[in-house]
Amino acid sequence: MTAEKNVFQKILDKEINSTIHYEDERCIVISDIHPKAPIHLLVIPRKPLKSFDDVEPEDKDLLFHLMTVGRKQIKKMGAEGYKLQYNVGSKGGQEIFHLHLHVLGWN
Ligand code: AMP
Repeated sequence: MTAEKNVFQKILDKEINSTIHYEDERCIVISDIHPKAPIHLLVIPRKPLKSFDDVEPEDKDLLFHLMTVGRKQIKKMGAEGYKLQYNVGSKGGQEIFHLHLHVLGWN
C-alpha cells in the first residue's frame, strides 16, 4: 500500500493549486492559506524531509537556501520585520509532515 501524498507534496507536484510566489530547483514559496500575520509565506523544499528533526548536516546548504529565499520574498512583498519558524512534531504545532519554513511578515 502506498502512503497518501501530503498536501505540500501535491502542491510541489502541481496536483493542487496554491499562490506560488517563487520556485527553483530546491524549493517553492507559497502563501499560507490561513495567514497568522499580514504576510505569511511557506518555503517548502522539494526534498521530502518530514520535519526539522529529519535534517542532517548534509542539509545545511538547503536550510540556508530556504531562509534566504524566504527573506528575499518577504522583503519583496514589503515586510519591514519578519519571523522565521519551524513547527516540529504535533506537540510543536506541526500539522503537515513535510518540512516547511514559516515566514511571517509585518509592513
Ligand atoms: P504546520 O502547522 O507548521 O504544519 O503548518 C502548516 C501550514 O500549512 C498551516 O499554517 C496551514 O494554514 C497551511 N496550509 C495547509 N494547507 C494549505 C494549502 N493547501 N495551501 C497553503 N497553505 C496551507
